[in-house]
Amino acid sequence: MSFSRLDSPVQYLKGVGPRRAENLAGLGIRKARDLLYHVPRRYEDASTVQPVAGLEVGDAAVVVGRVRSSGVIPTRKGLRIFQAVIEDETGHITCAWPGQPWLDRRIRKGDLLLAAGTVRFFHGRQIQPREFAVLESGRARGASEGEEGGARGTIFVVYPASEAVPQWVLRQLLERNLSTLLGQVEEEEYLSPGERREIGVPGLAEALSSLHAPRSLDAAERGRRRLAWDELYFLQLMHAHARHRSTTAVNGIRFGRTNRLIRPLHESLGFRLTDAQARVLREIYADMTADRRMNRMLQGDVGAGKTIVAVFAMMLAVEGGHQAALMAPTELLAEQHARSLERLLGPLGVETLLLTGRTDARERARVLAALADGSGLVVTGTHALIQETVEFARLGLVVVDEQHRFGVRQRMVLGQRDPTPDTLIMSATPIPRSLALALYGDLDLSVLDELPPGRKPVATRWLRPSRRAEAYRLVRDELARGRQVYVIYPLVGESDKLQLRSATEEWERLRAEEFADFRVGLLHGQLPGEERDAVMRAFLAGDLDVLVATSVVEVGIDVSNATVMLIEHAERFGLSQLHQLRGRVGRGADRSHCVAIADAEEAAAERLRVFRSTHDGFAIARADLAMRGEGDFFGSQQHGQPVLRFADLTLDQDLMRAARAHARAAIDRDPDLLTPGNAMRRQLLTGRFGDRLQLRSVG
Ligand code: ADP
Ligand code: MG
Repeated sequence: MSFSRLDSPVQYLKGVGPRRAENLAGLGIRKARDLLYHVPRRYEDASTVQPVAGLEVGDAAVVVGRVRSSGVIPTRKGLRIFQAVIEDETGHITCAWPGQPWLDRRIRKGDLLLAAGTVRFFHGRQIQPREFAVLESGRARGASEGEEGGARGTIFVVYPASEAVPQWVLRQLLERNLSTLLGQVEEEEYLSPGERREIGVPGLAEALSSLHAPRSLDAAERGRRRLAWDELYFLQLMHAHARHRSTTAVNGIRFGRTNRLIRPLHESLGFRLTDAQARVLREIYADMTADRRMNRMLQGDVGAGKTIVAVFAMMLAVEGGHQAALMAPTELLAEQHARSLERLLGPLGVETLLLTGRTDARERARVLAALADGSGLVVTGTHALIQETVEFARLGLVVVDEQHRFGVRQRMVLGQRDPTPDTLIMSATPIPRSLALALYGDLDLSVLDELPPGRKPVATRWLRPSRRAEAYRLVRDELARGRQVYVIYPLVGESDKLQLRSATEEWERLRAEEFADFRVGLLHGQLPGEERDAVMRAFLAGDLDVLVATSVVEVGIDVSNATVMLIEHAERFGLSQLHQLRGRVGRGADRSHCVAIADAEEAAAERLRVFRSTHDGFAIARADLAMRGEGDFFGSQQHGQPVLRFADLTLDQDLMRAARAHARAAIDRDPDLLTPGNAMRRQLLTGRFGDRLQLRSVG
C-alpha cells in the first residue's frame, strides 16, 4: 500500500516543533491528516457579526474586535472577574468573565477576539460571553495595527481548541499549511466528476478548503456534506463487505416451501397477521428460499408480534427438512419462548425442546441426542446453544432474540458452520433506520412498524415529586385489584455524590410503610445471578406484588398481570430507556399506567414531554437520536475518535441511503476491491477500518 504524506507526523508541518506537536496531540491531532480533518466547532458569518456601537441591552450579540485593555478585577465578595474591553471601527464594549481570572493568560491586549453572548447592563453595556475565540494573536501580529475591516466579508471559523493550542494557533497553522495539504489530499479523490455530480457533492480538496476557509456558510455546508459522504460511504463499504462474506461467500441453504406447516399455523392462530407482519414475512421467505444465506434483523416495538413472525420462519425451515433454534439472552426468556412455542406448535405436532443451564442431566442428554440425530426439529435456549459444542444434524435457521448481547463475534461463530444456517436477529429496541444502517449495515433490515389492532396504549403521566402521593394512590388501587407493580430507581444503593432515592433504601421504606400490606421484592444488577432469577420468577408467578428495581428489568419478562410502571428520577433515564421500561406493562387486557416522577428542567423536561405524548417506539427513537446525537449510540472507537464526525444521521438520511446503495454495488462488482480502479477505495477503507476488516489480498 502506498504511503501518503498525510500520514506523516504533524511535526513535519510548517510551524510545528516537538513541543507544539505534543500539544496538538492533546487535541487528537497527531498526523498531518488530523489537522486537515480537524472539524470546526462552528462558523460565524460576518453578516451576523454586529457593529459594537449598535448593540442594545438584551441583544444576543456576536462581536469581533481588537482587545484594547484587559485585566482581573476583584469584587468585594471575593469573586475575581476577568475583563477585556474590545473595539471595532464603531466603538467599544466590555466583555466580562466572572470567576475566570485565568483567562488573563489566554486573552491579551492586541488580540482579535470574537465573543458571543447576551448584552447586559452593568456599569454600561457588557457581554458575558458564553463563547469566545481569539481569532488572531496580538503577539503574533507584532505591534502593527491591523485593519479589522479586513475580517469583514468572511466567515469566521471556530475550532475546538485548548489552552495549549489556542484558536489563533490552529488558524495560523492551517493558513500556512492548507494549500500543501490540499495538494496531497487530491491524490485520495476516489470519486469521478460524474459520480460527484450524481451524489451531489464537491471534490475532496474543494470540500476541505471550504471546511477551513469557506466563502459562505453554504459552501461550508457543501464541504461538510462531502466529508459526511466519505464517512458514510466507507462505513457502508465495510458493512457491504462483511455482508458479502456472511451471505454470498458462504454456503447458504435454499429452503423448499411446501406450506405443510405454514398453512395449519395460519389457520390455528385465531387472528390475522398485520400488514407489517405479512410484508416482513415475504422478505424473510424470499431470503430463505434463495441460495444466498439470510442474515437479517427484525426490528419492532415490544408487542409488535415479532415472535409469531419468527415462528413462521422456523416452520419454513422445518418444512424444508431442517432444524430451527431460537436463542434468548436469559434462561427466563428462553423458558418463556418455549411456552409460547409449545402453545403454537403443539397443535401442529411439532415438539419444542428447551435447553438451558437449568435443564437436568437426563433431559439434557435427551435433547442433545435429538438435535444430533435430527429427530428434534425446534429448540429454544440461551446463547449457550451455539457457543457450546451442541451438535445439530441439519441446523437451518437460528433466530436470536435481542441483538445487543449478540455481537459480531457470536455471529461469526454461526458463520463457521457449513452450510451456514440462516439467521434472523430480533430486536425490541426500535432505532431510526439511518442509525440501524450505520450500526448494523451488514444485516438486511425488516421493520414491524405497526402494532396488532386493539392494543390500549399505556396511560402515561409525568408528576413532580411533590405529587408522589397521587402515584402511590394509583399503585395501591391497582394492588387492591390484584394487579402487580414495578417501581424503578436509577441507582442500586445510596450515593455520596448524588442526592437520589435508590432502589435498596426505598425498598426498605416501601415495604415497611407505603406498601406494608403487600409483598415487595428487590431486583438489581448487583444481586448474584441466581438470586436475581429467583426474584424475577417470584414476580412472574405472582408471589410478589411490587417489584422495586433498577433498569435491569428493561429487557425481560412478560408479566401480563403487571399494570403500573412507576419510574422515580425519570429525568435520569434516556428517552428510549423510558420507553423500554414502559413496555414492561400494557401486555394484558386491562388498561395499564406509567408514571414518571421527575423534577426536570430543559433537556430532561423535553424528553419527558415527548415520552408522555408518544407511544410509537420509532418516533421515540428518532426524537432520542435528534436530542442526543449519534455519538451516544456509537460510543467511541478505540482511539477515542467518534466514527462519525461530519455526518449527522438525522440530517443526512439521503446521503446514508445513497452511500449504502453505492457501497453494495461496488462490493457486488468487486468484493475485495482488487481491481486497479478500486485501489484508492481499498486503501482508504483499510485506513479507516483496517482493524475490523478481512479483505482478501491479491494472489
Ligand atoms: P413481540 O415479540 O414483538 O414483543 P409478541 O410476538 O410477543 O410481540 O406478540 C405480542 C402479543 O400479540 C402476543 O400475545 C401475540 O400472540 C399477539 N399478536 C401477535 N400478532 C398479532 C396479530 N396480528 N393480531 C393479534 N394479536 C397478535
Ligand atoms: Mg437461503
